Amino acid sequence: MHSDPKPAPTVLISGTSIAGPALALWLHRYGFAPTVVERAPELRTGGYKVDLRGTAIEVCRRMGVLDEVRARSTDMRGGSYVDDAGRTIGELPAEIFGGRVEGDDEIMRGELARILHDRTREDVEYLFDDSIAALAEDSDGITVTFASGTVRRFDLVVGADGLHSTTRRLVFGPEERFTRHLGAYVSLFTAPNHLGLDRWETYHALPGKLVCVYSSAGETEAKNLLVFSSPEEIPHDHRDSAAQKRLLAEAFAGDGWEVPRLLGHAADATDFFFDSISLVEMDRWSKGRVVLLGDAAHCASPASGQGTGLALTGAYVLAGELARHRDDHATAFARYEQRLRPGVEQNQRMAEAFVKEMTLDTTWKIALRMFMVRMLPKTPWKGLIAKKIRNDIQAAARAIPIDDHEAPTDTGTAPRPTVGA
Ligand SMILES: Cc1cc2nc3c(=O)[nH]c(=O)nc-3n(C[C@H](O)[C@H](O)[C@H](O)COP(=O)(O)OP(=O)(O)OC[C@H]3O[C@@H](n4cnc5c(N)ncnc54)[C@H](O)[C@@H]3O)c2cc1C
Repeated sequence: MHSDPKPAPTVLISGTSIAGPALALWLHRYGFAPTVVERAPELRTGGYKVDLRGTAIEVCRRMGVLDEVRARSTDMRGGSYVDDAGRTIGELPAEIFGGRVEGDDEIMRGELARILHDRTREDVEYLFDDSIAALAEDSDGITVTFASGTVRRFDLVVGADGLHSTTRRLVFGPEERFTRHLGAYVSLFTAPNHLGLDRWETYHALPGKLVCVYSSAGETEAKNLLVFSSPEEIPHDHRDSAAQKRLLAEAFAGDGWEVPRLLGHAADATDFFFDSISLVEMDRWSKGRVVLLGDAAHCASPASGQGTGLALTGAYVLAGELARHRDDHATAFARYEQRLRPGVEQNQRMAEAFVKEMTLDTTWKIALRMFMVRMLPKTPWKGLIAKKIRNDIQAAARAIPIDDHEAPTDTGTAPRPTVGA
């Protein structure tokens, strides 16, 4: 049996959503000792549905969680656009909405986080209700001071703490230097399923705005997603939920359909989410012994529909490189970035294009879109149009080549070399 005379390298990961626990899973398999710190007092299980396609599906398979992911599929059947009176304008099947192919899936973000946490909780140290307050690096490691006051040493630190990453701010500088607002805001919250939706999404388009209500498999309530365009950033505190609810109410004041009722639910929602649709763009994702992962490094925004996939794939690539360059984190970080960056940029460009389509600024553009929605199921080119949408999304979902580093069962064994894209 292989035995490693050196102690397991210790890695502190900040953030327990997707990227954090996925990285912890791989690092544990490779004989590292990961600790994951999460600011929330317990696992955040809420959220929205996230698409998993292409490479991310393969990474789930290699993590051994694909069956569980499939068992928790949202199982969406499709969606419709409705007018002000709630009358259906047109219906589209789930494949067109999601640009999916056979084998792709969709799951609630919180469900995926729970699956990854359940899979790692026995082997990985999780610290909830705490966060990194300060980092001091020297030639042997990093001294981490936690918000709780605890001080500990680690070999490496990974910031997987999302769009508003504290790790990024502490190590690289203020958030404004790395985020780019794409001209829209998104809000999401849970409310009763007034429309009686069953694995179905209903869209209502307004000038500069989009409302989507959906209910997925196993849900008794509905998720409500409200998007509005705002070319300029609206200054606000991203942790001040009351202020965000006011911004949402102002943006949708006077609008019809279900909007007044939804705004009422938004005001009381305990899972209210509101954020700018933004990209994170950085010249580099690592500095010394600290590296960023997932949205913290390269948020592609909800408009890409690929952030979860990028987080999973990034965790797989980073862990593989760290295992391969066990005593040389600088090379591991450089290789990770080199392999991920082109695919990340492809997905970010797709997000920039898609965000322009999320909301339409005039009534005539909306009327044209609704005409197309109504006609699409009847047109003989339906297949071609669906294929074009699918091809773009699928190419982005496969943009990052992954190697064949099936996890070794004994610790410390380097993964097999890359076998190609
Ligand atoms: C409305 C919406 C729809 C989306 N739809 C899709 C989709 O269809 N497909 C898709 O692939 N992606 C989608 N995404 C994007 C996806 O959710 C993210 O890209 C993905 O969750 C990124 O994972 P992450 O682990 O990097 O970061 P996050 O999921 O943002 O998690 C960061 C974690 O870090 C924690 N944290 C924050 N600060 C600290 C701190 N200081 N200390 C410790 N912990 C901290 C947070 O509590 C959180 O648990 C969507 C996003 C939104 C908002």
